[in-house]
Amino acid sequence: MIIRARIVVTMDGSPIENGAVAVSGNRILDVGRFDDIKARNTGSTVDVGEQALLPGLINAHCHLDYTCLRGKIPAQKSFADWIKAINAKKSELSPRNYVASITEGFEEAKRFGTTAIANLTAFPELISQVQPPIRIWWFAELIDIRTPARANELVDSALEALKQTPSWGLAPHALFTASSNLFRRCENIARRDNVLLTTHLAESREEMEMFRHASGPLHEFVKSIGRPMDDCGSKTPLERFLDLIGSGASPNRPGAIEVNRSYPSWIVAHLNELTESDFDLLKRSNSEFQVVHCPRSHNYFGHRAFAFKRLRSLGFNVCLGTDSLASNETLSLFEEMRAFQKNFPCVSPEEILQMATVNPARALRCENALGQIRRGFRADLIAVPCSTSTDTFEQILALDAPVNWSMVNGKVIASVSKSAAC
Ligand SMILES: [Zn+2]
Repeated sequence: MIIRARIVVTMDGSPIENGAVAVSGNRILDVGRFDDIKARNTGSTVDVGEQALLPGLINAHCHLDYTCLRGKIPAQKSFADWIKAINAKKSELSPRNYVASITEGFEEAKRFGTTAIANLTAFPELISQVQPPIRIWWFAELIDIRTPARANELVDSALEALKQTPSWGLAPHALFTASSNLFRRCENIARRDNVLLTTHLAESREEMEMFRHASGPLHEFVKSIGRPMDDCGSKTPLERFLDLIGSGASPNRPGAIEVNRSYPSWIVAHLNELTESDFDLLKRSNSEFQVVHCPRSHNYFGHRAFAFKRLRSLGFNVCLGTDSLASNETLSLFEEMRAFQKNFPCVSPEEILQMATVNPARALRCENALGQIRRGFRADLIAVPCSTSTDTFEQILALDAPVNWSMVNGKVIASVSKSAAC
């Protein structure tokens, strides 16, 4: 099949006017100017018209479990209060509600041009009941705050469910809810099975206050439910995390998309609270990890400004995510890109689009398969209305409607445009 568009935004060099992409099976066979592609390839042509064809968007941090909590939790004074509020809402939900919530979330993400999601689920046992319409990495979100002696058991039972899925990882929830043993157990499994790891780190002022000064609302809350607090009172969350994690490559896993072995496995969500000593530590440390920023969830909580420029200048790969609808309004990465642009108007729209395509592909260790339109890459593509009058990347970021044409793994999953087969 040949897909022709007014412009093809490959994220691998300059956009191609009157461009086309040839797809065979689940892969991109060829990309270039329409006339050249037609001369070099056979098959039917789909013309998506006055649109930009671009790589499908990749959401690097999401919790589809809580799609049904949209608008249900007003912003709270304290982060600890928000945790209490979401826990109260969660106690009202049944496994059936969660399956419906995850399914609804997939549909919404797909509608807004997301073709791959790194999704944390607190219920890996429900994964087999969901049919994802897009590419998915399932991360089991693990919390052992009430049962630290059972960390290994918790991981093992998650593994049973995760191993039924092609792409998965482990997510010890955060330093304040997951024990050191749980973090270490996840690292050992990740090294053994070559899977990804993700966690929430240094998200709130209260997390900083808890670890650095052994005080504050989060400290009081987790202490009240029995968390041992002997790791609080001296170090920053980043210092604690770097103490806990190891480093080193692991072997490729058979059947998975080919993995670049040189990358470490941690994808760190948030990283909002960093002291000057933390930045010094980041400069000196050999530890590399991928960072996910969730702009609208960030705004909802009123966190301090995200240190994008400093992290970028230190060489960190920064990606965008939506987080859950318990702290956000939609699962649209276009809205996420616009929220980021509002906070960082000096960053080019092209670089912002990289944060939802190229960068998350790299974080998920699929930079040789996803995030760009290149020969041999997986055919995950979307089309976005794009006229000649305005900057292409600005128009892409401005999309405020469902995407009218998209393809995942070589299959068209949405097509409501006037596109014509010829
Ligand atoms: Zn999260």
